[in-house]
Amino acid sequence: MANIGIDLGTTNSLVAVVMGGKARCLLDDHAKSMLPSVVRYDAGGPVVGKEALDEAPQFAARTFSSTKRFMGRAPADCGADAALFRYTMDDSEPRFVRFLCEGHAPVTPVEVASEVLKALRARAVECLFGEPGGAVITVPAYFDDAQRQATKDAARLAGLEVLRLLNEPTAAAIAYGLDQRASGKFAVYDLGGGTFDVSILDLNDGIFQVLSTAGDTHLGGDDFDRALAQYVVPDLAARSNAEARAILAAAERCKRELSDVEISEVVESDGSGTSTRSYAVTRVDFEEAILPIVERTTRACAQALTDAGLTAKDIDAVVLVGGSTRVPLVREHVAALFGREPFCDLNPDEVVAIGAAMQADILTGSSQLADDLLLLDVIPLSLGLEVMGGVVEKFIPRCSPIPMSASQTFTTHVDGQTGIVLHLVQGDRELASDNRSLGRFTLKGLPGLPAGIPRIKVDFLVDADGILHVSAKEEFTGIEAKIEVKPSYGLSEDEIEVMLESSIDNAETDVEVRMLIEARVEAEGILRALDKALRADRAMLSEESYQAITAVADKLREAHVSTDPADRKRINDLAHELDAVSAPFAQERIERDLTIALSGRAADVVGSELGLNNDGTKKPGPGAAAEEDATDAR
Ligand code: AMP
Repeated sequence: MANIGIDLGTTNSLVAVVMGGKARCLLDDHAKSMLPSVVRYDAGGPVVGKEALDEAPQFAARTFSSTKRFMGRAPADCGADAALFRYTMDDSEPRFVRFLCEGHAPVTPVEVASEVLKALRARAVECLFGEPGGAVITVPAYFDDAQRQATKDAARLAGLEVLRLLNEPTAAAIAYGLDQRASGKFAVYDLGGGTFDVSILDLNDGIFQVLSTAGDTHLGGDDFDRALAQYVVPDLAARSNAEARAILAAAERCKRELSDVEISEVVESDGSGTSTRSYAVTRVDFEEAILPIVERTTRACAQALTDAGLTAKDIDAVVLVGGSTRVPLVREHVAALFGREPFCDLNPDEVVAIGAAMQADILTGSSQLADDLLLLDVIPLSLGLEVMGGVVEKFIPRCSPIPMSASQTFTTHVDGQTGIVLHLVQGDRELASDNRSLGRFTLKGLPGLPAGIPRIKVDFLVDADGILHVSAKEEFTGIEAKIEVKPSYGLSEDEIEVMLESSIDNAETDVEVRMLIEARVEAEGILRALDKALRADRAMLSEESYQAITAVADKLREAHVSTDPADRKRINDLAHELDAVSAPFAQERIERDLTIALSGRAADVVGSELGLNNDGTKKPGPGAAAEEDATDAR
């Protein structure tokens, strides 16, 4: 059984396979490799591909295209997009996008994608004379966890086994790199129907490393179509759904022609296919209409170069991917941006599917293409955990290559804590509240040990598909919680950019606030521990030592509530002073505790003998999670 590679595109999808050591796209009955990612829901079942695309104007209310834009996203985030495509969102479902569909139950983008995947799978069955093995499916580099999960769900619905999700630009690099055995730094510029990605890749002896990625999930050939349609029909927004769709389709045809000829036309029809008017358009007119859209790719290219620590001069070759890179203005723009002619030997429509098929073949373990190909992609935003004081402990910094894992050990902050709430965040700001929350989960059933005793090891793993797995384990008791990270919805590239910009703008204040919070948390910990020790063992101190300690403790108690970052030094100084003045007392208690522990009694007995658990501090009931939701980094 051959493995297959699938490019699940916004506009078109393809399936490819390696046969006789060469990757090729599988063709339909009309010898076409591209299957329009368009689905119509008829009473007799879904109609997928060209027929659905061609007849979309007549069946607008039950035909869906470009739905990849909505994969894994919440309605609140993409209402504007839905309006743009004139889809009616099902308001009764706030958690995920669902479109109303004439004569059919509402449909989700995952269901639409699964119909496209089913059609590709059927094509593979026909061409390969049997079921394909597993599939490598490509996704835009900027797809976050929810969007990747949604893609996997669609594959599962279509009965496909997903071997791996692969970033589209990386797939293109595989196609080029393996064909040419080149080495150097490549920029992959991928402008498709609905998304734009740029990736900077380092290619060396057949090993790819993605140094950085940037992009815009709302930029592509669809925008060119709309710009051209609006150029010829300025009142496009006022037209009926059917009319607007027909004009957009005519603009798309005209756009394609203008890649080869200097003049073409947009033929307006009344929605039933009858031509009503025709507008002549020159390539110059078209370029004027789309220039602002093409220029929007510049910012992402600059960001990707900066993230990779490179300038345009360092790039050895630029690879073009996606149907929209056939537009001459786009090619000129890319050439000017990187100071060199782009590399476009392979068919830009097929290069991603070809790369995916090569990767799928390599995963069989018996590939003739390469046997030690290592593939590294990067994480677009840092991943971390909220710790005491609401600050973020970063586990995996942005632009880390994947797969990537990281672990840290934490402890509890309050005596008798039986549960810990771990809050996962994504972003680059210092405070958890300024980042995006990915989810919370609880490690329950801890035996209620004194603060500081439990050792909770938290592991982060971003797998080869870019999906985050988190697990937490208390090392003494072996109590474990594996976390299902269920992000409520994905981030758009714009949001990622806003988050990155704000993390840069706020870097200085963030760090100051973080340092103040850390100082306050540390002071709180010292004061809490000291109060507990004094309640239990006041008798061990002389009156003089007691007065000396409490005098500094009172000053620290007063100082540590400050919210002014300028007070951080005073808090730290007082904490150190308190540390120094109470050191002999701490030493004496430790020695006494050691003697008790060495006598062989269990930790909880020791704890209660030391008065640690009946000192009036809050002690959650068994099995209940403590309210304190932050852990304390060790
Ligand atoms: P993709 O998502 O890579 O399949 O790209 C599809 C996009 O490429 C659509 O917006 C198409 O209209 C566009 N496209 C395909 N062929 C051409 C062409 N010859 N000239 C301009 N745009 C094209």
